[in-house]
Amino acid sequence: MDLGIAGRKAIVGGASAGLGKACALSLAKEGVELTIVARTRENIEAAAEEIRKASGAKVTPLAADMMSDEGRAAVLALCPEPDILINNAGGPPTGNFRDWDEAAWISAVKGNMLGPIFMIKDTVDGMIARKFGRIVNITSSAVKAPIGILGLSNSARAGLTGFVAGAAREVAKHNVTINNVLPGDFDTDRHQSNTKAMAKVQNRTYEEMKTIRMAAVAAGRFGQPSELGDFCAYLCSRQAGFITAQNLLLDGGKYPGTF
Ligand code: NAP
Repeated sequence: MDLGIAGRKAIVGGASAGLGKACALSLAKEGVELTIVARTRENIEAAAEEIRKASGAKVTPLAADMMSDEGRAAVLALCPEPDILINNAGGPPTGNFRDWDEAAWISAVKGNMLGPIFMIKDTVDGMIARKFGRIVNITSSAVKAPIGILGLSNSARAGLTGFVAGAAREVAKHNVTINNVLPGDFDTDRHQSNTKAMAKVQNRTYEEMKTIRMAAVAAGRFGQPSELGDFCAYLCSRQAGFITAQNLLLDGGKYPGTF
């Protein structure tokens, strides 16, 4: 299927590894021009080269922190008129809510709620004027079913989810969509470090914890980042203009509810 987005411009956050890199690659294969962002220069430049080689697309890497005002300003200076915005970065640290002080909470809210909201605020009016926009926020299955050690993530992302529910409906008539993709268990660096943190809390080995987590997924495996990347590219397609304000769970059937 031709997704009808060749020549469109996209900003993809957290794109040197894991889910963000997979989204970037899937968009690049559709002929989208990319500005990709992560904090570590060497890694984002290597990712850009890898994506260029695999797709032939124009890819501009930027070393910046998407959670800071300066970082977001640098991204928008490089790509002021994106047609597609993939809001993605790292998640907040794991832990116990008794240990989190105000600074920890503010940092989580800034990174995982306000950062994506400000990126939307700064790009959505251009999309409205051009009558095409696709915004995808990579959030977490924790928005639907909280994960114990991820209280900061559960909470900050719920705030973003509430914002999107309102804002998406305000801009939908201009062919601008805003959706959240909720990953379950995808085999990435962050997933591995979360598994290690869970193993420590439960006094298990990493391999034991991995087996337990995999057994909880109906599909019997973790997701591959490319599966999420291709789904994200579809959400950014011309054809996906009628899908908006949704929370789309990709979890291999782990969530047990009927809806
Ligand atoms: P990952 O493998 O750790 O990759 C994170 C990427 O984001 C890296 O490129 C990292 O590079 C970049 N990054 C981190 N903080 C950043 C920042 N402040 N500004 C710009 N770039 C930043 O993580 P992932 O598993 O792909 O997860 C992506 C998102 O999905 C996270 O928010 C995570 O919480 C969420 N999620 C993942 C899963 C899963 O199963 N993997 C499940 C639920 C939710 P630098 O460190 O160099 O910046």
